[in-house]
Amino acid sequence: MIEPNRHYTELQDSYFFLELSRRSEEYLTAHPGAHIYKLGIGDVSQPLCPAVIAALHEAVDDQSTMEHFHGYLLESGTQFLREAIAQHYARRGVTVAEDEVFISSGAGDELGEILDLFDPVSRALVIEPAYPAYVDTNIMSGREIVHLPAGRDCGFLPLPDGDLDADLIYICSPNNPTGAAFPREKLQAWVDFANRRGAVILFDAAYEAFIEDADVPHSIFEIPGAETCAIEICSLSKTAGFTGTRLGYTVLPKALKRGGMSLNAMWMRNRTTRTNGVSYILQKGAAAVFTPEGQRQIREQIAVYKHNAKTLMAALDKTGLWYCGGRNAPYLWMQCPDGMDSWSFFDLLLEKAQIVGTPGVGFGACGEGYFRFTIFGSPDDTQEAAKRLAELF
Ligand code: PLP
Repeated sequence: MIEPNRHYTELQDSYFFLELSRRSEEYLTAHPGAHIYKLGIGDVSQPLCPAVIAALHEAVDDQSTMEHFHGYLLESGTQFLREAIAQHYARRGVTVAEDEVFISSGAGDELGEILDLFDPVSRALVIEPAYPAYVDTNIMSGREIVHLPAGRDCGFLPLPDGDLDADLIYICSPNNPTGAAFPREKLQAWVDFANRRGAVILFDAAYEAFIEDADVPHSIFEIPGAETCAIEICSLSKTAGFTGTRLGYTVLPKALKRGGMSLNAMWMRNRTTRTNGVSYILQKGAAAVFTPEGQRQIREQIAVYKHNAKTLMAALDKTGLWYCGGRNAPYLWMQCPDGMDSWSFFDLLLEKAQIVGTPGVGFGACGEGYFRFTIFGSPDDTQEAAKRLAELF
């Protein structure tokens, strides 16, 4: 009999998010007709922008003609999209070659699959609180996890300490769930550390489009030395509303080598085996995001979310409660009042203000006592929720 991968027994069950919806439903059953203000979801609410929609329609039409029809495409992505992305980096002063860009079905898929490149005996460092997939994907592949708890003292942006023993290093900046974003200088410290140790940084840039501050890099490749130690995983999910459409990209420099092997060449080999690529239609839609028109339209959408962030931040400022995030990320991370644990605060907010957010403990033990709000809700709901928050405290 074939043995299953027993590492799956080490995974925590999905109790957390089930419990979250169970408590919300219980409240609605007890209070029929009540309106819940949802500040918990990490999903976008704005539709795809017109430039993307037009490109998608055009691509569908292409597929209906002998002349423009496309069958199998390059596994690593079409040249037009990889070029558009390389040029997007160039406009920001970062040199990325077209064959260092790999098109994916999203950051979530890529974060799991990229682990194929590394020895399962290596150690993965996860800065916590963290996006749960970092821990779960490594548990599934049997890798040892080094948890690095972060806290308010360092603004949830810890620096590497010489004793850290890690081979793979996850950095999510701007961060989900804390909304904190690494400034250039701190990111440089991680890059230097990784190069010294021969470690590889998996840089999750899913939220780079929300950055406002000039000293916060959009790409780890803005940091000298990153090309020899980092892989950048990007997504159009939050940047351009692709959560349900699905498209991401990964930048893996040719200068990144370990044990005499080129990780870029290995990833190309992996892609040609593991996938037949992303559909032509989606890649055409994605390419529209990088046109001047597409960029202008997605900035307008992000501005709607940013307005929500300002509304929530103003409310939290009034309460005097400690929080971070909101400026460079679509998340606000607040400390629960009076030493409350994060589930008790969830219950209190639901009961007294009909607001649903996410208890921090769902992102690792050191998230206990904290709470996450997102800015992806509707402006009306966010406005009312902010008013209720300010009144409650
Ligand atoms: N990385 C982080 C930090 C996220 O928060 C998410 C989604 O919420 C993802 C990756 C997954 O993104 P995608 O929709 O591209 O799979």
